[in-house]
Amino acid sequence: MTSPIEITAAVQMLIDRVGSEYEYEIVPVQPGIATNGGRMISGWTVWLSEFICEAEPTEVWENEEGDLIAVNTPHVSVEKILFIPDDTINLEAKHIRVSVSNNPLVDHLIALADLKDFLLPYGTELEDGKVNFNTYTGNVYNHYDALFNNLLLFLSEGKKIGAKCYCGSMKPYSQCHGKNLPAAIEEDKKAVKKFNDALKEEEVVVQE
Ligand SMILES: [Zn+2]
Repeated sequence: MTSPIEITAAVQMLIDRVGSEYEYEIVPVQPGIATNGGRMISGWTVWLSEFICEAEPTEVWENEEGDLIAVNTPHVSVEKILFIPDDTINLEAKHIRVSVSNNPLVDHLIALADLKDFLLPYGTELEDGKVNFNTYTGNVYNHYDALFNNLLLFLSEGKKIGAKCYCGSMKPYSQCHGKNLPAAIEEDKKAVKKFNDALKEEEVVVQE
């Protein structure tokens, strides 16, 4: 994974999707210097992997000279990051993802990544970066995380929707693990929300 310094058609599509009124900037990464004045600016950092270009809510530091500098340690070592300022952003906002591939199966990969984002707030992040879920939500997360990893490998091998499914069933992906995947994801989103809403109700303490 890297940050796209070159604005290709797919990157431009993501910038348009973000819909910020500000121009993007390519900002240098210098961890740990946001100490002497200046202020934090909210917006999106943009990441590029083999199949997906994605915008992540974040903040960068504007020093007293007005230069923007990425100070939050990025996931990968890069010297510069594409940053889109956006003062309307909520730092808890979901990532925005677009495909950079002409393989339509990447839409399934994006749906799975978006679902993982949806599930994360139902868990508690532990110190080692792992996330602790209740059993029900954890099982849903693990199920889709495995599908994500399987599909990523499948795509990396250049497989298309009609190729034999990664599970070894000998059926085409479209008739096997790919069958109704977006619908199944939507169903599980509703089920997880319902389950966790019910848990919250149980926690309500009534003062008498
Ligand atoms: Zn399968």
